[in-house]
Amino acid sequence: MCGIVAYLGDHQAYPILINGLKRLEYRGYDSTGVALHNGSLNIYKKKGKVTDLENFVGEIIPQSTIGIGHTRWATHGEPSDRNSHPHCSSGKKLAIIHNGIIENYGAIKKDLSDKGYKFHSDTDTEVLISFIEDIKKENDCSLEEAVRIALSKVVGAYAIVIMSADNPDMLIAARKGSPMVIGVGKGEYFVASDATPIIEYTKDVIYLNDDEIAIITRNDLSIKNIDDVALTPYIQQLDMDLAQIEKGGYDHFMLKEIFEQPNSIADCMRGRLDAKKGNLVLGGISKYSEALVNSKRIVIIACGTSWHAGLVAEYLFEEYCRIPVEVEYASEFRYRNPVINEGDIVIAISQSGETADTMAALELAKSKGAIILGVVNAVGSSISRITDEGAYLHAGPEIGVASTKAFTAQLTVLTMIVLRIADRKGTITKELYHELLSELESIPEKIKSVLKSNAKIEYISDLFKDARNFLYLGRGFNFPVALEGALKLKEISYIHAEGYPAAEMKHGPIALIDENMPVVVIATSDSSYDKIISNIQEVKARKGIVIAVVTEGDVLIPKMADFVIEVPACHEALMPLVSVVPLQLLSYHIALMRGCNVDQPRNLAKSVTVE
Ligand code: GLU
Repeated sequence: MCGIVAYLGDHQAYPILINGLKRLEYRGYDSTGVALHNGSLNIYKKKGKVTDLENFVGEIIPQSTIGIGHTRWATHGEPSDRNSHPHCSSGKKLAIIHNGIIENYGAIKKDLSDKGYKFHSDTDTEVLISFIEDIKKENDCSLEEAVRIALSKVVGAYAIVIMSADNPDMLIAARKGSPMVIGVGKGEYFVASDATPIIEYTKDVIYLNDDEIAIITRNDLSIKNIDDVALTPYIQQLDMDLAQIEKGGYDHFMLKEIFEQPNSIADCMRGRLDAKKGNLVLGGISKYSEALVNSKRIVIIACGTSWHAGLVAEYLFEEYCRIPVEVEYASEFRYRNPVINEGDIVIAISQSGETADTMAALELAKSKGAIILGVVNAVGSSISRITDEGAYLHAGPEIGVASTKAFTAQLTVLTMIVLRIADRKGTITKELYHELLSELESIPEKIKSVLKSNAKIEYISDLFKDARNFLYLGRGFNFPVALEGALKLKEISYIHAEGYPAAEMKHGPIALIDENMPVVVIATSDSSYDKIISNIQEVKARKGIVIAVVTEGDVLIPKMADFVIEVPACHEALMPLVSVVPLQLLSYHIALMRGCNVDQPRNLAKSVTVE
C-alpha cells in the first residue's frame, strides 16, 4: 500500500505532486519521490517523509507541467533512496510509480537479467518497468501497447502510472486490485490513489476499474481494457470532504481497517498461498526453515495484541507441528534471565517492527545464540533488520492505534508458517493440510460475511455502552480471542474488561457476575462446544447477560444467550481470524457511543518505542 499521484496540464507539476503526496502520506511514508520532465526525465527521490524530499530538492523548484509522485510503503526491498519510487527502466526512457506487488517479478527479472538488463533496486516495480521497455523493443510497438501486453503477463496487484522521456505529453495509468482515481480538470488531468490530492482542483473524477488502462494526453483521455477494447470513461462527481476521503469514506481509520480485513488478509497471502495447487511459499523464511522443522522448542515474544496472536500461534504450533512453544511478554522476557540455548528459535511479532521491549528481548535472545525470526508489518523496520529472517504481513499501514487488521494478518502469516512446517515434518495429514490451505484462502470471504452484522453489533453496543465492566470468555483457539476482545474494549472505550479461559471463570471471576455484567462468550461450534455451553449456563445461573458469538445455524445457544452474533462456519484452528471481527466492531461502536477518540485513545501510542 502506498500513495501515488500524477499530473498533466498547464500548471507546474511539482507543487501539485508534493501537496498530493502529503495528503496521501497516511497510505505509506517510508520514502518519497517524484519524476518530472524537463527536456529529459528528472527523478528526485529520498528515503523518509515528503518533507525530507522537499528539503532534498531545495528552493529551486524543478519546472515541468507533467509529473508523477509516490510515497512508498515498502513490500520488496527495505526503505532506502535506491528502492524509492519512481523507478526507471534499464534504458532510462521510462519512469514508473507503483502501488502493490508484482508476484511473478522474480521470473521476469531472471529473464531480463539473462538478456543483459541491469537493476538498481530490490523492488518488483523496477522489474515491471524494464519488462515494459523490453516488450516495446521486442514488438516495436507503442508504449500503451507494451504496457497492455506486460500487464496481461504479470500476476499481482498494482496501480501504476508511467511517463516517458520521449513523450512529455502523455501519462499511462492502469490498475488491478489497488485503488486509482483520475481527476478531469479544464485542460488538466490528475491521477491519484484516492481523491484527496484532486479535490481542490476538480470534482469530476473517473474511478478506474481493474484491468483498465488510461491513456492521458494534454487534450484527451481514453480508456481501454487489457483485452484492447475501448471503453467510454464514466465521469462522476465527488461528494465527500477531504477527511472522509482520506479514511476511505469511513468515519475513523479503525473502522476502515476493520473493513479492510478481507483485502489485507488477501494481500498477506498474495503470492504465497495457492490452495488449488497446494502451494505455500514464504520467501522470507528459507535459510532457517530446516531449523524450524527440526526445532525442539520455539519461544514467541511480543506485546499487546501481537502477544495474543502469539498465543494463537502457540496452539497452532503445538497442535500441528508438535513443537512446544512458550509465549512471552517481551518486557518480562528481557528482564528475567530466560533460558535460551544455542539454536533455539525465537519469533518476534510486532506490527510496527519498532516495539522497544520486543527489540530488546530479541537482542537478548540473539546474544544467547538463538535464531531470531520476525513477523512484522513495517518493511525495513528495526525488528525486521535485526532478525535473521522473517515474514512480512503486507497488511498496509495501520493508522488506528487499536490494532485490528495487523492482528488478523499476524494470524494469517503465523498459520502459513505453521502449516509449512507441519507439512515438512509430516505432523499433519496431507488431507488436513490441504483442507486448511483452502480454509485459509476462504477467510476473506468469511470476514466479509461477518462485516454484514455491523448494524446488529451497533444495536447491541448501544445497549451496553454504559456498562462499567465486561467479561470475555473463550476456550481453545478462541481463548486468545477473548483476551483480544477485552483488550480492544479497554483500549478505546475505557471500560474495564477481562478476558478469561471460559473454564477458569469459576476460579475467580464468576464472583463478579450479576445482572449488570455483560459476558461476551466466543462459543463457535468446535471441539469445546459442549463445554462452553456449560460455561454459558454458569453465567446465566448467576443472572449475567450473555452476548454469544456463535456459528451460523447454531440452534442451541440462541436459546440460552441474551444476544447472538453469527459468524460463518470455519475450521476451529482458523476461527480466531473470523471470531475476532465482531469483537473489534463491538469495541468500536461502544467507544464511539461513549464519545471516545477511537483512532487516538488516551494515553496510548501506535508504536511503543519506549520500554
Ligand atoms: N512493491 C513496491 C515496492 O516495494 C510498491 C510498494 C508500495 O505499494 O508502496 O516498492
